[in-house]
Amino acid sequence: MSHDSPLVIGFVRVVGGLWAQTFGRLDRYTGEHREFLSSGFVCQKCHERLIGNWLIADVKCYDSTGGTVPLMQARLRGRYFECPKCLHRWPFRLPSMKFGNGIKVVIGFLIVALVTALGFLAYARWQNFMWEMEVFGLAGDVGTSRAGRDFRAGKTRLFVLAGERDEDKFSGTNDGPFEVWYPQYFPQYYPFRYGKEQDVEFYNRRMRYMHEHPEKSNPQTNATTQIMKP
Ligand SMILES: [Zn+2]
Repeated sequence: MSHDSPLVIGFVRVVGGLWAQTFGRLDRYTGEHREFLSSGFVCQKCHERLIGNWLIADVKCYDSTGGTVPLMQARLRGRYFECPKCLHRWPFRLPSMKFGNGIKVVIGFLIVALVTALGFLAYARWQNFMWEMEVFGLAGDVGTSRAGRDFRAGKTRLFVLAGERDEDKFSGTNDGPFEVWYPQYFPQYYPFRYGKEQDVEFYNRRMRYMHEHPEKSNPQTNATTQIMKP
């Protein structure tokens, strides 16, 4: 396929243009060099199209001392490109940005502030995790022991979380042998919601378990245990 075919030129222009507008901008390519890439390697002076083998630009590249640089190393060492047709030269990159001391101080301050904020965030996440663990344990205890008391008192019920309410309420329906109750629930506050979710889950699990194993729901008193010892 000839280098002059519209397909090849179109391909080179699209790839070169994308490169110029993204990495080229980040890497401080000069406007002329970005124009050269976007145009599909057209010399901005003599307007010759300079496509070489392997669809790379047919140009010469020089380093800061005027020595030639292989094109593969142009991104590392190249300072100027040269059109082989008209010998026009153009610079590869803009000079690097020089930051004044004021801006350095500001950047340093922002970096410290960012790291500090991330540190606080990590600490808060960790604290939150600890709170969750603690609430999980306490709410689990509350749910489990309450289910035990209820079952022994003859109340067989399950709780279903359903909207905010400030006291437990019978739903009016049953789920098999269980009455379905709506618990006191304040879902808009995460700690309350989380605690109640654990409470209800432990409660229901314990209630179902005791319903299936009623013999285990009536623990022997110390006195009975003493008597039963051989
Ligand atoms: Zn030229």
